[in-house]
Amino acid sequence: MQTEQDTRLAAYAELLAAIEPAGGGRDIKDPATGEVVGRAPEHSAQDLEAAVAAARAAQPAWGRLSHAERTEYLNRAADAIEHSAEALAELLSREQGKPLNGPNARFEVGACAAWLRATASFELEPEVLVDDEGGRAELHYRPLGVVGAIGPWNWPMMISVWQLAPSLRMGNTVVMKPSEYTPLSVLALAKVINQVLPADVLHVVSGGRDVGEGLASHPDIDKVMFTGSTATGKAIIRSSADTVKRLTLELGGNDAGIVLPDADPKAIAEGLFWGAFINTGQTCAALKRLYVHEDLYDQVCEALVDVAKQMPMGVGLDEQNVLGPLQNKAQYDIVADLVQAAKDSGARVLTGGDPEAGQPGYFYPTTLVADIDNDNPLVAREQFGPALPIVKYSSLDEVVEMANGLEVGLGASVWSSDPAKAREVAARIEAGTVWINKHGAIDPRVPFGGAKGSGYGLEFGAEGLKHLGQPQVISY
Ligand code: NAD
Repeated sequence: MQTEQDTRLAAYAELLAAIEPAGGGRDIKDPATGEVVGRAPEHSAQDLEAAVAAARAAQPAWGRLSHAERTEYLNRAADAIEHSAEALAELLSREQGKPLNGPNARFEVGACAAWLRATASFELEPEVLVDDEGGRAELHYRPLGVVGAIGPWNWPMMISVWQLAPSLRMGNTVVMKPSEYTPLSVLALAKVINQVLPADVLHVVSGGRDVGEGLASHPDIDKVMFTGSTATGKAIIRSSADTVKRLTLELGGNDAGIVLPDADPKAIAEGLFWGAFINTGQTCAALKRLYVHEDLYDQVCEALVDVAKQMPMGVGLDEQNVLGPLQNKAQYDIVADLVQAAKDSGARVLTGGDPEAGQPGYFYPTTLVADIDNDNPLVAREQFGPALPIVKYSSLDEVVEMANGLEVGLGASVWSSDPAKAREVAARIEAGTVWINKHGAIDPRVPFGGAKGSGYGLEFGAEGLKHLGQPQVISY
């Protein structure tokens, strides 16, 4: 008799077999164990040409469907993801490293389905701008054509859905280029979604930076949705310039969290912790530098250490873990070097900061660093890992200046028992989103995008749909 375990294993094996190439390919290793997860196809420039040509050919018919018909497809795609949820979560956990449990792999797969359904449900009716005796002007949004979607390795499935769902909803077809670190997750997600979509509406080209560059400069790609580092975002602006592509750029961040003197340290500690350490700190809009008023600095540090000590880190498939490894060696080295530099400068490590030598996997312990200067590299650079610097401040003007002192501005947060005061401070922060008494909470109905070097263009909600349409005025 088949047990539940057998069925789960069979579904996982079937999903993996469906995306691995018949021969060859590149080994993808589990960052927690070093074991091979599977083989990713290595697509070439010719494969990119073929995918773009097929997506271009499929676009007119897809674009002619009504919004209701495309909505139906997106809802069926969400059903398909839910049907394969456990196999998708297992593959994501093995390839990315994030645990199944906690706000991690199962959560990410669930968010994919939820985002598809939400994106399907938004209405984007033509706007009547003028309607008087002089005439009438309406604003419509037409499909752009073919969207190139280039993604990172931290939330590979969810960010793919953020890119493909509004693109498809607006009548575009899509060619995706996943990160070379996490191609299997995106290939598997697309395989599942493609069970219900018409042929050639969604393609994945699994290759390196050269394939990304090819997509960003391709004359038959009308828009690039990019999520990744600020440096790569700038490269994409340059390579897309000749073809005047539309761009949505969701780039790096170094989000500040400001704890005001009236906050309750114990009440906010868990929110602060997950704001910083969700996905083991590998999140664009995670809290990456914490500013605490001198009056409650020691209490906040103590409360954070208490929470940190309760959060198990380890191999993703072990149900008890809620934190995992860094996804790759390069990111591990960035975190380790930044913490080492902080220690060398005399900053005080409250917990962590001392990785175990010789164990497999890119595990870096949950690290809290106090008594650190604002210009220390662990504060000034994006660590993108499980190490949070906690800076002491004494005046509001000083902390606002420090929060705004960097070239990036994705998110920020203000923590206080007085909502009116918190909103006043929020208005002074240069960031695309400012959360109050939480950090990093996103919602498919609420637009999300960066300020300054964190990018431009909005995602999510009806505003997000507009960024995947060509505005057209009809005037008569
Ligand atoms: P990355 O910029 O190194 O790579 C992202 C993608 O771009 C990969 O698929 C890569 O192959 C591709 N790429 C690399 N060079 C390219 C080029 N010249 N032209 C076209 N494509 C190219 O980023 P990463 O290390 O995968 O992701 C981490 C970064 O992403 C962090 O800085 C993080 O803050 C940011 N991020 C931002 C958001 C957001 O919503 N703003 C979300 C997640 C991650």
